[in-house]
Amino acid sequence: MQQQARQWQSEQKRVGFVPTMGALHEGHLSLVKESLAHNETTVVSIFVNPAQFGPGEDFESYPRTLENDLAMLDQLGVDLLFLPSQDDFYQDGFSTYIEPPVVANRFEGTLRKDHFRGVTTVVLKLFMLTLPTNVYFGQKDFQQCAVLSTMIDDLALPVQFHRMPIVREEDGLAMSSRNRYLSESDREKARAISAALFSAQAAFENGEKEGCILRKIATDYLQKHGIHEIDYLTIVDPRSLTEVETIVTDVVLLVAARIGTTRLLDNILLTE
Ligand code: AMP
Repeated sequence: MQQQARQWQSEQKRVGFVPTMGALHEGHLSLVKESLAHNETTVVSIFVNPAQFGPGEDFESYPRTLENDLAMLDQLGVDLLFLPSQDDFYQDGFSTYIEPPVVANRFEGTLRKDHFRGVTTVVLKLFMLTLPTNVYFGQKDFQQCAVLSTMIDDLALPVQFHRMPIVREEDGLAMSSRNRYLSESDREKARAISAALFSAQAAFENGEKEGCILRKIATDYLQKHGIHEIDYLTIVDPRSLTEVETIVTDVVLLVAARIGTTRLLDNILLTE
């Protein structure tokens, strides 16, 4: 992979890179299309990274749909699909990890111990292998974007970070490889997550700037629609992810909730 990347570099080709864990959907494909539009070469990786799953999480059962993924990427005209094996990636004796920035120490970082350490480590190694000019990540994983863009700045990595908008199903549910875990009735319930965000957004656009009131609007909506297991629902500064009470500049409303055994994440930017 690195040899090929060096070759592209010597030909002055811009390389766009989209790291994924596979089970691809339109959300992933939107990142790939953006890369194809702005780079001479696009690399997509599929690697279900064990280091970012905690004990008892869904590493084993994570959906693996390689044939389907291949067909989707082929159709778009991706230049190279990078499929490292677990053993190649974490060779015997592997013991170097990237300590994530402080923005990782909240929300997902407190609920999923070592998750972001796994993410920063795999992403930095993938960057070193693919030597990309532009890298594309989804706003759907908002905290992950904050962690990785901070890592890129802190370590002066020579890549340009792009955060791409959330692609949603028709009823508003943010697309996710994990949506396929939902039973029919849970899938029905799940639409309330984005609808709760939209209801807070509507209030914001009508002039409501108090975080506690906007949070209550979204929380009440979730509860009214049978979603009670809310891991967090918070309004934060988009860079530091510190909580904001009275909104005077752009913020993001983040939510993580459980429906049955499935954890779903969503968020919405509230901009003036
Ligand atoms: P994953 O395979 O879940 O690790 O996701 C790979 C990339 O796709 C990450 O940067 C995600 O944030 C992004 N992604 C996942 N779902 C969506 C979505 N619904 N819209 C846009 N990007 C997404």
